[in-house]
Amino acid sequence: MNQKKIVIIGAGPTGLGAAYRLHELKYDNWMLYEATDYVGGHASSHVDAHGFVWDEGGHVIFSHYPYFDKLVDDMLGEAENQLIRESWIVKGESWVPYPFQNNLRYLPKEIQVSCLLGAAKAAANGNAKAAENFRDWILATFGDGIAEAFMFPYNFKVWTTPLEEMAKSWMAERVAVVDFKRLLENVLYERDDAGWGPNSKFRFPLHGGTGEIYRNMAKRFPEKVITGKKLTAVDPAARRISFADGSGDTYDVLISTSPLDLLIGMMKGADGKLREAAANLHHNNLLVLGLGLEKKIETGKCWIYFADPEIPCYRATYFSHYSAFNVPNGDTERYSSLMCEVSFRVEETPNIEQLLERTIAGLIRAGMLEEADRNRIVSRYHRVVPYSYPIPTLGRDQALSVLQPALLEKGIYSRGRFGAWRYEIGNMDHSVMMGVEAVNNVLTGAEEAVFRSA
Ligand SMILES: Cc1cc2nc3c(=O)[nH]c(=O)nc-3n(C[C@H](O)[C@H](O)[C@H](O)COP(=O)(O)OP(=O)(O)OC[C@H]3O[C@@H](n4cnc5c(N)ncnc54)[C@H](O)[C@@H]3O)c2cc1C
Repeated sequence: MNQKKIVIIGAGPTGLGAAYRLHELKYDNWMLYEATDYVGGHASSHVDAHGFVWDEGGHVIFSHYPYFDKLVDDMLGEAENQLIRESWIVKGESWVPYPFQNNLRYLPKEIQVSCLLGAAKAAANGNAKAAENFRDWILATFGDGIAEAFMFPYNFKVWTTPLEEMAKSWMAERVAVVDFKRLLENVLYERDDAGWGPNSKFRFPLHGGTGEIYRNMAKRFPEKVITGKKLTAVDPAARRISFADGSGDTYDVLISTSPLDLLIGMMKGADGKLREAAANLHHNNLLVLGLGLEKKIETGKCWIYFADPEIPCYRATYFSHYSAFNVPNGDTERYSSLMCEVSFRVEETPNIEQLLERTIAGLIRAGMLEEADRNRIVSRYHRVVPYSYPIPTLGRDQALSVLQPALLEKGIYSRGRFGAWRYEIGNMDHSVMMGVEAVNNVLTGAEEAVFRSA
């Protein structure tokens, strides 16, 4: 049979999802090229010099797709932990269970009043359909009290972008919206209400962090995954690609998981219209700060959100709670770890030492660490992660409507967190499925349900 040659760029969840599907179908004419010397992309994990395991930011495994669930079963077998999300928001002196708006009773009375008043007004004014951007949508949905107390400062920290420059269309199930009656009852009846959302339970690999899933996937077809191959040029007319080391390959179909703006930059003959559209895609970067402690921390807590500007991170994860093997020798009697995430804008260079110090001070202020714990920090880990959040700006969808059809016409499927550039389908389950479905589409014409989802 004359099989089309499929080339995959990137060994993250999307590229490996595509590869896994090809392997499953016993299709042979394909290769995967990865720029780095490891697999997993943003979902990889790294062991530091002291033996602590770190993810590239807090990853938890939850899924919307039976195919993905089965794949994770296949990769991990019994070697996983099942966790119940216990997530909190630190606001000033208060600890509020997530989601914030459902647990206002944990706040000082005057903030409770302003949050409830704002939410009542928002409810009376109807819905948020008329809102033109993310900021207005927050105001119309939650009211000004909750917006000022949490939604505005927290989201600005994560996105590093003025919220009025962001669209509202991407949110889907990502942000718990308001049911005013429930919110009021929770305050009056002093009721906890923390079970919301698709990740209220999640899985985590016992060994090796999140990256274990993807390392195990790549082991299924080692001869097909070539690392250390950075794509630098694409000639769509000749269907030829070149790598930084001077080598190259040809393809009939290219499945690229490289950031879409960079892909356009590498494309021979990309016209002004494509380049202009690519320039309208915006992202930010991430600094992962890890604190490996010689101290036992016993907790059921998973991660903590921070809205206050004094602490630079938007989130801190009790990473040793996810698996004992995230600390040296699995010895949680002796060790624990906290992993913090700081977003920064592309034009910024983070001052790592200063951010680490401010983060430690913030964790002490929040009561997550004691002053004496400064002497118990045995590992100060950091990792700069470029291309962290694909920002759903107002111009994003227009840009994508120019770029994606033009690429597909040339046999290029740009898929994945930064290939598709749609945060709303930017998690691991979406990414793996985008890879799987791209292959199905190439081979059988089946619809790409995840990529095409509104
Ligand atoms: C802070 C943070 C927290 C997250 N939390 C969660 C979570 O809790 N749960 C969840 O499900 N998901 C989470 N995610 C999302 C998850 O990381 C992504 O869904 C997933 O990694 C996307 O996979 P991908 O293959 O599309 O892209 P990537 O993971 O970015 O992989 C792309 C791969 O392509 C390679 N590549 C890029 N350019 C080239 C080139 N020119 N040549 C060759 N190779 C190239 C890269 O090196 C990389 O290996 C989180 C992401 C971040 C940043």
